[in-house]
Amino acid sequence: MRTIPVYSPLDGQPLESIEVADASAVDIAVTRSRSAFENWSQTPVKERVQPLFRFKQRVETEMDSLAQLVSAENGKTVGEAAAGIAKGLEVVEFATALPVMGQGGKLEVSRGVDCFTRSYPLGVVGGITPFNFPAMVPLWMFPIALATGNTFLLKPSEQVPLTSVRMAELLLESGLPEDVFQVVQGDRETVEALIDHPGIAALGFVGSTRVARLVYERGIGTGKRMLCLGGAKNHLVVVPDADPEITAKNVVSSAVGCAGQRCMAASVLITVGDCSAVMEAIESEMKAVIPGENLGAVISAEAKERIEGYIERAESAGASILVDGRGASVEGKEEGFYVGPTLIDGVDVSSECACDEIFGPVLTVLHVDSLDEALAIENENPYGNAASIYTTSGATARYFEDRASAGMIGINIGVPVPREPFSFGGWNESRFGIGDITGEDGIRFWTQQKKITQKWSASAAQNWMS
Ligand code: NAD
Repeated sequence: MRTIPVYSPLDGQPLESIEVADASAVDIAVTRSRSAFENWSQTPVKERVQPLFRFKQRVETEMDSLAQLVSAENGKTVGEAAAGIAKGLEVVEFATALPVMGQGGKLEVSRGVDCFTRSYPLGVVGGITPFNFPAMVPLWMFPIALATGNTFLLKPSEQVPLTSVRMAELLLESGLPEDVFQVVQGDRETVEALIDHPGIAALGFVGSTRVARLVYERGIGTGKRMLCLGGAKNHLVVVPDADPEITAKNVVSSAVGCAGQRCMAASVLITVGDCSAVMEAIESEMKAVIPGENLGAVISAEAKERIEGYIERAESAGASILVDGRGASVEGKEEGFYVGPTLIDGVDVSSECACDEIFGPVLTVLHVDSLDEALAIENENPYGNAASIYTTSGATARYFEDRASAGMIGINIGVPVPREPFSFGGWNESRFGIGDITGEDGIRFWTQQKKITQKWSASAAQNWMS
């Protein structure tokens, strides 16, 4: 069996290695999942959510050690790791509310005749997740999929395989029956085996746009239900009436939090008119961000090289690197994959650092004269996860909210992740498929409805329906 080594980005040291599940290993997992489905799908929803209540408590009790594990395999700070887990637990809360959400409607459609809907699980379903949120992104999927009666196969990123294994143990210890939730480890080979397996009804995917598109198209081709979230290039727009200090703090934490490895991170800052006070405040805020202290590592040596390459090429093309994160190093962890906060100014709107998803703690600044010019830049970008505006004018905020081409809009907030039950999902090339991954769309994605028409009339002549 092929194995893949796993390194900690914090110090570059090996942590573990995983065995890649090939097509036959995936087939065994699907068979076990199918057999667990027989009982699980027949278990009433009120019973199905009980292990999830206990799981939430277990995760809360073990928050410190789980956050340490996320930090070790992903490189983010322990505080950031705990915040991501807590956000994921909101989806568990949402899923445990399924029994009180009163699914389906009922109507007397004719004398003595009722129509109503009942919700059914799809069967064996799966999730394929990226490296940047080892707990939170899987938690977007499996709580709702399980509570609605499916059995679930999780394929975490091969770069962060350990948190998923711990979550599987906690689910079992919380009373989830064996094989209702399984982790299959691997990379592209495993993903392709999952997509091609006829026993899997639906797959959720979160990752880069390139892979999201490939996975979506291949999955749709097999007749599966697919929802694939992709990458992002998020724009933050600042207008002159914004409060410089509050704005600067918020912009910087959006750009460099989790080392910029968030699909909701600020990537391009567009200033409209004279925003020099905000720019000065951003520069000094960024200089207070120190790798190894309040800034974690990026995922790999390759990621560090890629990110530094963007900074290098921007500089060669004439950009001003106002804050330069190249060559960052942390004492005692010299082998870790650190990139310092970086602020790039003076680039062309069509330059690669203004257009590509860099996925590092790098903020590129563009300057325009009007809000419409800022919106035109935002609208032209093919992605559509998040877009934010900083202003003290409600009318300006409303104008932006209506016109930005993104699924999640921030007003004076740089990481506008909706809190549950408001669902998570982008637009454009940040999503392939229909709907959002959490919230009510999540329920719809993992279920199918039966429409039942029943007639209990005392007399055959009571109505015309046969
Ligand atoms: P990735 O696309 O490289 O990998 C995601 C998953 O796909 C992993 O499990 C990986 O094993 C698998 N995979 C990789 N290449 C594949 C291939 N050719 N065929 C089939 N499967 C393949 O993404 P990543 O580097 O792990 O994560 C970072 C990306 O995820 C960024 O682009 C980020 O914006 C995106 N992301 C998006 C969201 C969102 O909600 N839209 C959330 C988190 C991350």
